[in-house]
Amino acid sequence: MKCLLKNVYYVDGFMDEAGKGDILIDGDSISEIGDHIGTSEDTDVIDCNFNKAIIPGLVNAHTHAAMTLLRGLGEEKPLKEWLEERIWPVEAKLTPQDIYWGTALALMEMASMGVTGFADMYFEMEEVGEAALKFGVRCALSKGIIGTKESDIEKALRLFEYFKDQKLVNVQVGPHAPYTVPIDMYKKLCHMAKEKNIGVHTHFMEAAWERDYLKEKYDMVPVEFLENSGLLSVPLALLAHCVWIEKDEMEKVAVPSVKVAHNPSSNLKLGSGIAPLKDYLKKGVSVCLGTDGAASNNRLDVWEEMRLAALLHKGNELDPTCCKSKEVLKMATFNGARALGFDKVGRIQKSWKADLVVVDLDKPHYVGVEPSNLVQYLVYAGSSSDVVGTMVNGRWIYYYGSYSYKDVEEIKREAKKSRERICS
Ligand SMILES: [Zn+2]
Repeated sequence: MKCLLKNVYYVDGFMDEAGKGDILIDGDSISEIGDHIGTSEDTDVIDCNFNKAIIPGLVNAHTHAAMTLLRGLGEEKPLKEWLEERIWPVEAKLTPQDIYWGTALALMEMASMGVTGFADMYFEMEEVGEAALKFGVRCALSKGIIGTKESDIEKALRLFEYFKDQKLVNVQVGPHAPYTVPIDMYKKLCHMAKEKNIGVHTHFMEAAWERDYLKEKYDMVPVEFLENSGLLSVPLALLAHCVWIEKDEMEKVAVPSVKVAHNPSSNLKLGSGIAPLKDYLKKGVSVCLGTDGAASNNRLDVWEEMRLAALLHKGNELDPTCCKSKEVLKMATFNGARALGFDKVGRIQKSWKADLVVVDLDKPHYVGVEPSNLVQYLVYAGSSSDVVGTMVNGRWIYYYGSYSYKDVEEIKREAKKSRERICS
């Protein structure tokens, strides 16, 4: 089956301007972009009359999807207290089924907002993967590891084996953070990631006290920890947050294998600080965007992270020219897909995977939009409520309020039951 999106604006491969014309999707990929593309009998034609924009699928590059069940718990507490007193005790009650329904609830939200891929660190990751496969969403899964249990290394290996034949699922290794996982365990996990040629997803320098912790415990600054733990020699290191990296340390993270997931809403809500995004971009660090879990955001809205990333640093740096809309859109799409370990995903380009979002431009806040300013309109004036269609790998997972997932009402019902039980 082919699908022709006719008469659309589409964001070009440089995330710079819009092209105008038709996009033909054949199977899982974009097969042609141009004017007046011809059709055959097996082509589903959607004429968008130049009031729809097609943008690459948005990627939530750091989240804990099933935390939708914990949304609103322990509001307005410091990170450590929030985790230890409010979040971890409730998480201890979660069953595999809870994780499935909590993840499915997150995917319902994210699909309606144009998210085509997510990097998830949690537990019972087989359930997370099953929910993602049922939704048809791309993902990178890492089992969150705390402490030094050898059995966790085996579990991570089993997860890799479980999903290794799934095209939409990549498995990564997930040491939680340097303050919950000793450096020797990092070394073992990084060794395993290298052997299996997979990525490592970890929290890194989210709060200021983590620098002091490394100094005291290992006499290291953060980049020395990266070097000594093995994180700089794995095929891909997805580092969530990186709020507290000094300017003179950034060269070390400006390498192709390191991906920094910037989570502006979560960092603000937990009072963690403001990541030095302007400097990261100047130094050529590959930055992607994440929402973090729904308990620390509380939205799973990549559009909002885009807008915030584009605004926050201008104000903080007193520089309206930094963190441009095209850079931010690239972070939310192409860079995110790379951080999940996928190639040829994240651009509207011939032969690339058909992960895309249909944005309704027939709204008052888009009056005045034209090819040269589409990207700015999307980032500054647009929002997730403009999304009318979300396609992953050539398949609609969300289209005008309907999901391809068979029974979304069941998701809400079951998630509600889980929530009531874990909070009782
Ligand atoms: Zn996180």
